[in-house]
Amino acid sequence: MRHIAIIGSGPAGYYTAEAAQKHFGDDVRVDIFDRLPVPYGLIRTGVAPDHQSIKGVSRRYEKTALSQNVRFVGNVAVGTDVSIAQLQDLYDAVVLATGAPQDRDLGIPGEDLANCFGSAAFVGWYNGHPQFAGLAPDLSGNTAVVIGMGNVALDVARMLAKKGSEFDGSDIVGHALDALSASKIERIVLLGRRGPHQIMMTPKELGELGQLDHAAPHVDKGDLPDEAEDAILEPGLRKSVALLREFAATPEHIRAEKRIAIEFAFFVQPRALMGDGKVEAVEVEHTRLERGRAVGTGEVERLPADLVISCIGYRTAPIPGVPFDERQGRFANDDGRILPGLYCVGWAKRGPSGTIGTNKPDGFGIVEKIAADIASGSLGRGDKTGRDGFDALAAEKGLDVVTFRDWKKIEEAEAAAAREGSPREKFIDIEAMIRAAD
Ligand code: NAP
Repeated sequence: MRHIAIIGSGPAGYYTAEAAQKHFGDDVRVDIFDRLPVPYGLIRTGVAPDHQSIKGVSRRYEKTALSQNVRFVGNVAVGTDVSIAQLQDLYDAVVLATGAPQDRDLGIPGEDLANCFGSAAFVGWYNGHPQFAGLAPDLSGNTAVVIGMGNVALDVARMLAKKGSEFDGSDIVGHALDALSASKIERIVLLGRRGPHQIMMTPKELGELGQLDHAAPHVDKGDLPDEAEDAILEPGLRKSVALLREFAATPEHIRAEKRIAIEFAFFVQPRALMGDGKVEAVEVEHTRLERGRAVGTGEVERLPADLVISCIGYRTAPIPGVPFDERQGRFANDDGRILPGLYCVGWAKRGPSGTIGTNKPDGFGIVEKIAADIASGSLGRGDKTGRDGFDALAAEKGLDVVTFRDWKKIEEAEAAAAREGSPREKFIDIEAMIRAAD
């Protein structure tokens, strides 16, 4: 029997568990750990609440979770409640699938001003992540500046632009629904340090900006390159750029019918966030492209900003005892191998890029490596104690482990508390989750 511990119950974790089941069948036991009492990681607290069809992938993970040889071990923080070394003593392989839950810093003055947030915090706020549920952004100002031109920037801009019934069917948490519906923001500026051909936005998500009840996207025609130049773009990006052209071609009187403007500001990089205690402006420098990179022109401008959300990517959280690549913001690894018996997968391995589905080949790939390492004899004789050993350790340490059955009780309570048309009202603090599980 081989024992695998997977740390993190998001997509990378569950695809790895599924792959381990397929590869080893009855000869494996898998424990999936999560620091929260609830599973699914990014699916629950990262994917936008109005993208329920994407969240539906959790049904596939549940199938894996309910099988005999896979177990959910919730409410256990690896690195503090148990160490990596302790897990390595108990399991043949430990796989870090912890994602990239920390915001990357902009590295400019003023980042600690009030009402400036990273996307991990802001997305966590509207998705009810216990760590960020208390964020309380002030939405009483006129202008929000969203830094970055990726899909997270789009999610954030869309959430800031939606009101009341536009959230129907979503699982946005009550506090965020109330705050966003009462928001006074009428100008949302998306800042891109490069141009329309360098956006990281996918067409389906970008197209949603054109379908909002109260907001319209504004693109300046003058920012767009000659249409003939679009021919060299890969098809997805070409579609996104075609949407920008559509937005730019919308007559002003049509755009003006919507109260909220979502403005695309290209070729500007933030240099400082300014304000007296609370953010009031973003100082930006205009840029031009040199061999694909944004280079400052020296021309500086101040944009008013009552709220700033930086959506420039994420970092993996380091774990004591695990080699970390500071520059890349993820575990130091050789295609998923960190140290003998210690692996990583998903964003913790390759950084924050790709779709949920990208984690599937990742999970299957890491299980092939584990199998190869078992075959070569580098993972020992198969005499680890696995879940029995962990249960003894958990009892000794007095850990309050939340099982998958407990999670189903939490899920039931969340469904029962849902407002009409919504799938759930999430618990936003860990104690409430545990009370529901009991
Ligand atoms: P991303 O796609 O890497 O976009 C990050 C953006 O931030 C880029 O426009 C980047 O510009 C900009 N940026 C980085 N550093 C900057 C700086 N110092 N100053 C100004 N701008 C800076 O990352 P993401 O939006 O966080 O998304 C992460 C992954 O999740 C992506 O693969 C995304 O597609 C995926 N995702 C998918 C969905 C969906 O499918 N619905 C939703 C959300 C996220 P440069 O290009 O110039 O570096």
